[in-house]
Amino acid sequence: MRVYTAKGGGFCFGVKRAIDIAYKVAGKYKGGVYTLGPIIHNPQVIEELKSMGVMPVEDIRSLKGKDVGAVIIRTHGVTRQAMKKLTDSGYTIIDATCPYVKKAQYYAKLLKDEGYQVVILGSREHPEVKGLMSYAGRGAVVVRDATELPPLKKRVGVVVQTTRHVEALKDVLCAIAGQIKELKVYNTLCSSTTERLKETEELARKVDVMVIVGGKNSANTTQLAKLCRSLSVPTHHIETALDLRESWFSGAKRAAISAGASTPERLIKEVERKIKGYRRKVS
Ligand code: SF4
Repeated sequence: MRVYTAKGGGFCFGVKRAIDIAYKVAGKYKGGVYTLGPIIHNPQVIEELKSMGVMPVEDIRSLKGKDVGAVIIRTHGVTRQAMKKLTDSGYTIIDATCPYVKKAQYYAKLLKDEGYQVVILGSREHPEVKGLMSYAGRGAVVVRDATELPPLKKRVGVVVQTTRHVEALKDVLCAIAGQIKELKVYNTLCSSTTERLKETEELARKVDVMVIVGGKNSANTTQLAKLCRSLSVPTHHIETALDLRESWFSGAKRAAISAGASTPERLIKEVERKIKGYRRKVS
């Protein structure tokens, strides 16, 4: 059995930057260091940071009564209102929002200020999209795909959750173009995600089994698994090498591993090593 590992798997630029910031500030403040929500969607990294004194909290209210040294904003960013609240409360803010997400927030606000109705392609529940909504103004709408588009105003501006698929953007733009007079688009897709999806799709098309490594709560990792399943390739989404089962590879000639943007290199290597161990028995 041949085993391929995606070259673009693992930490993206934004996640690496945020994690580096978190490790750097751990233990540097008199009070505790808190992140609003888990800094990345990877339970193993979160546990490691907790052991160094960087604790995730649910929301700003959860900071009440705590001895807060600093608050880290994670890669997804926060809403405009949350940022104001943190500033008004006098907390020391360490902003680890990914610069690409910042750019998307900036464009959402720009479109609103220029009088466009803002359409955001993304998942309503995702923290990044909640942040974008807060910059996009009252008439803004969030759609998962073209089928969710409501009747729109005459002038529409589009931004995209950074981790969506380019094909979904194309579909939405075609559908919008048919019903409005003016369309302005900021392609806020992150190139790291686009390349990761492309590479994963190419691998999935040539193997018998796909293994996707990353947090079960990571939207971009789940998206990779969904993409592979849509190509009818047996796909297993795992968090660590402990989740692997040798039986998945029985009869397989080729297998491939890909990973989400929040998966540490170490976990990918462990998975690779274990599967290569099966390879020797299978082939
Ligand atoms: S996936 Fe892209 S947008 Fe998201 S954190 Fe990574 S680099 Fe930033």
